[in-house]
Amino acid sequence: MREQSRQEADTGYAPGEEPAIDYEEHDGPAVIHTDSAVKDGLNKCERCGSTEISLNVAKGTLRCHYCRHEWQEASAVEEFDLDTPISALDGITIGSGSAALVPGTDEVVSFKCSACGAEVVIDTEHAMQARCHWCRNTLSMNQQIPNGAVPDAVLPFSLPKDEAVGRISKFANSRKFFAHRKFLAEFTPENVIGVYLPYLIVDVNASMSLQGMGEHKLRQYTVGSDDNKRTVYDADVYQVARQFDLYVDDLTIESSSDKLNIDTSHNTNNIINTIMPFDTKNIVRFDANYLSGFSSQRRDTNVDNVSDIVLRQTRDIGRHQMLPTLRHYDRGVRWEQEGFEVKGQRWVSAYLPVWLYSYYEEKRNGKKLLHYIAVNGRTGETMGSIPINNRRLLIASAIAQVFGTIAAVLFL
Ligand SMILES: [Zn+2]
Ligand SMILES: [Zn+2]
Repeated sequence: MREQSRQEADTGYAPGEEPAIDYEEHDGPAVIHTDSAVKDGLNKCERCGSTEISLNVAKGTLRCHYCRHEWQEASAVEEFDLDTPISALDGITIGSGSAALVPGTDEVVSFKCSACGAEVVIDTEHAMQARCHWCRNTLSMNQQIPNGAVPDAVLPFSLPKDEAVGRISKFANSRKFFAHRKFLAEFTPENVIGVYLPYLIVDVNASMSLQGMGEHKLRQYTVGSDDNKRTVYDADVYQVARQFDLYVDDLTIESSSDKLNIDTSHNTNNIINTIMPFDTKNIVRFDANYLSGFSSQRRDTNVDNVSDIVLRQTRDIGRHQMLPTLRHYDRGVRWEQEGFEVKGQRWVSAYLPVWLYSYYEEKRNGKKLLHYIAVNGRTGETMGSIPINNRRLLIASAIAQVFGTIAAVLFL
């Protein structure tokens, strides 16, 4: 938020005097069918027929537990043509797994085991797989039901658990001095869990135009004498106009409503934002086997709910990219007119991998604060919050002040 307001100041707006934007409306979305080739139920190893399949994190492949055969799902970018030029996007295109959620859609899905014919139930709220209780085969849910459980694509974990544990320990150890003793005593990084979090990945094809007045300072001098002195400027005033196309590639937006809430007094969710970005070009077609042994969180937000956030971010990116062209106007530019047109958008939903270590801090007043240390399941980028021992923090800042004072004395 601070970043945004600074940009606005740089581009010459005073608060509250932004020109209105005219968004252009387009017709209903075109849909990319991302689950047309999948089926629910038995998903067998093509070599031995086993259904015991899970992710080999080190290689990012699916592995059969019996014959060790390994394979990978098709690249979602290639399979669904997500790499066509953004400049050619026209109207709204969405993956079928990003479609609007239907409230009240059953979270429990039942279907027939194709090995023995038994009726098997999968509770998609908690898992995307279940074992047939008669023949012991693993059955998977791959078809998109409009409850947000099956996305268009998934980015598999590639950072192994022991590496995540190592990074979490390192993060906590380097903050040991300030950490709450109880937290340190109870610290068990091995309890980290791998979670697939739901995101919407967006490409935007837009154009912007701005018109206003810019000033360039020529000279500065003092006029008057004694107690009537003042500084004056001479400046050239220009009419300034900018018009450009804007292509935004893979903007990544949380699609879980509690993650969109970044109020730091209530949670520490904004930590997840700091371990971005993810290599979203490597997403693969969704297959429930990637989730085996991991936890996942359903999408509960529609494209419509986050559309405004995306367009606002797109506009901010445009303004920011334009700044270097305005350097000549060192006394600022005051925009009087702004046009912003969105020509095309492409949305896909994906699960992205995060290792999470969580800890509940019980405050003296009985309030509970949830702390996280999060590790990007691809890049290993780590960020977190840990409960602070306030007394130690005070001592540390006092020491810093003493050192500061000594340094100041030495420099005299
Ligand atoms: Zn096999
Ligand atoms: Zn069965």
